[in-house]
Amino acid sequence: MSMVYNQEEPMCVRTVCPKCQRPTYAGCGAHVEQVLGDVPEPQRCQCQKKKR
Ligand SMILES: [Zn+2]
Ligand SMILES: [Zn+2]
Repeated sequence: MSMVYNQEEPMCVRTVCPKCQRPTYAGCGAHVEQVLGDVPEPQRCQCQKKKR
């Protein structure tokens, strides 16, 4: 296991949800903890939580 990132897969970016005004991310979803690591999960956008 290495920490080298695949350059073909750009890292997610932190955004603000227009619906709930809470921090969320845009991207593949594999880097959520890197862009939202400082935001407690309850304070993150929950709008897409129903999707499984
Ligand atoms: Zn990503
Ligand atoms: Zn939201």
